[in-house]
Amino acid sequence: MSLIVQKYGGTSVANPERIKNVAARVAQYRQQNHQIVVVVSAMSGVTDNLIKMAKEILPLPDEREMDMLLATGEQTTIALTAMALQARGVPAISLTGAQAGIVTDGVHTKAKIQNITPKKIHELLKSGKVVIVAGFQGETPEGQITTLGRGGSDLTAIALAAALKADLCQIYTDVDGVYTADPRLVPGARKLPEISYDEMLELASLGAKVMQSRSVEFAKKFGVVFEVRSSLNDNPGTLVKEETKSMEDVVIRGVSLDKNQAKVTLSCVPDKPGVAARIFKALADAAINVDMIVQNVSPGSTQTTDLSFTVDKADLLKANKVIDGIKAEVGFNCIRANEKIGKLSIVGVGMRSHSGVAAKMFDTLSKIGVNIDMISTSEIKISVVIALEKAEAAMKAVHTAFLG
Ligand code: ASP
Ligand code: MG
Repeated sequence: MSLIVQKYGGTSVANPERIKNVAARVAQYRQQNHQIVVVVSAMSGVTDNLIKMAKEILPLPDEREMDMLLATGEQTTIALTAMALQARGVPAISLTGAQAGIVTDGVHTKAKIQNITPKKIHELLKSGKVVIVAGFQGETPEGQITTLGRGGSDLTAIALAAALKADLCQIYTDVDGVYTADPRLVPGARKLPEISYDEMLELASLGAKVMQSRSVEFAKKFGVVFEVRSSLNDNPGTLVKEETKSMEDVVIRGVSLDKNQAKVTLSCVPDKPGVAARIFKALADAAINVDMIVQNVSPGSTQTTDLSFTVDKADLLKANKVIDGIKAEVGFNCIRANEKIGKLSIVGVGMRSHSGVAAKMFDTLSKIGVNIDMISTSEIKISVVIALEKAEAAMKAVHTAFLG
């Protein structure tokens, strides 16, 4: 007998029919004598709708009340899921995050889990029940309801799997697993049987939004192996785990395209100490996340340089304003913004032990006439900024070059 944590996301519990479908799957596993803890999200769209209603009342609602409100989304699904299991004759009980022993700090709407006391869950499992836990929520030591940040049900599942020392953790979603590229954009994309935590994190931060990044970081820290799979079929999913030696044999695990970035270029920026610090401090103070930064090599003679960086498209207006505000003080010439860019990246731990990866990527792009605007690299990733209109074709070509 093993202990399994299963997490079902919003689309998997989107309506009573889907919830019955979840109950059928849980019942199947239980028949094989496993102990099962189920973590559920709110029905898809519910959390968004709650936020929308709150904002219709007040643009910046009190965060304690926001948590009180948002926690109701998951509370609806735990009760319905427990009922769906009971309807099949499976003993089941629902627990809020607090009842499940999930203790968090007091940072409302983005609380961090401090500890989990799994005693109650263990007792209920021993008594033969399936335990359904509300994802995304917890309680402070003082008894205030908190939520863990958007997408936080993933974190609940991973943290519970760690605390319960579960034998298996399954994350059920509306995709079959993690793919070598977005299958809607690249017809040749394949599902990966396995991927390392680091590769998964890079792909997530690059816009392949399969899971909340924080939960993958947590899984890495506590060594929780988990499987991402679909609740709509029985296909095996993708196993996410610590890197193994054989993972390095594959040069590239995946290709991703982020169309949500915009590029800002400052020209004739004085080439002296403190300038970059001033610019990026101003952006940081405005809570603008900067992704890629490229500065030209100083030519020496002109004493000025060009500086480009990318920000979320949603932050572009704000970034422009901030930069404009320090233009006179810093003394650069002009600001140019370009929203029509795509950031194309290849990711793989195999890059560490294979040479010529960047050359092959750039060669592939040159053959289809794609100009590279910016380049950045990490140990397991190469990213280029290119024109948006060519981004999808470039993605396909790079996928074919590395992954067939
Ligand atoms: N319902 C929450 C959200 O939409 C948490 C989750 O789905 O993981 O962000
Ligand atoms: Mg979700």
